[in-house]
Amino acid sequence: MNETTSPKPKALLFCTCSGACASMAKIDFWALTERVRLELGGQIEFLALHPRLCEEDGERLMKHVLTDKMLFITPACAEKRQEKLLRDGFQKAGMPMDAAHWIPVSMAMETTDTVFEKIKAALAK
Ligand code: SF4
Repeated sequence: MNETTSPKPKALLFCTCSGACASMAKIDFWALTERVRLELGGQIEFLALHPRLCEEDGERLMKHVLTDKMLFITPACAEKRQEKLLRDGFQKAGMPMDAAHWIPVSMAMETTDTVFEKIKAALAK
């Protein structure tokens, strides 16, 4: 396998929407991230949570952590919203929002278990 076909390491960057979004009320973020860490941690370079990736401080975090060397899975709001709301963060990091760098995962109206399954599926891509 040469470098162009080797899968990139994956990292998880959660946006918890301040922890008070009604559409994420059925998600226990601490239980979710601990389960991901324990059951899927071997497939992940690192995971991190931020309360508001679409605000300036969230974009600064993205500027520091997004890299061409990794594919970022972002469990956050609906995929289409992420396309708009995370665009500035990707831009500040100089990273394109394409399939080689980014897999959005929607946590809207999901539960701890269903988000876990979505993340598991994203890691298998
Ligand atoms: S990026 Fe989405 S999930 Fe995160 S704070 Fe903004 S609206 Fe909420």
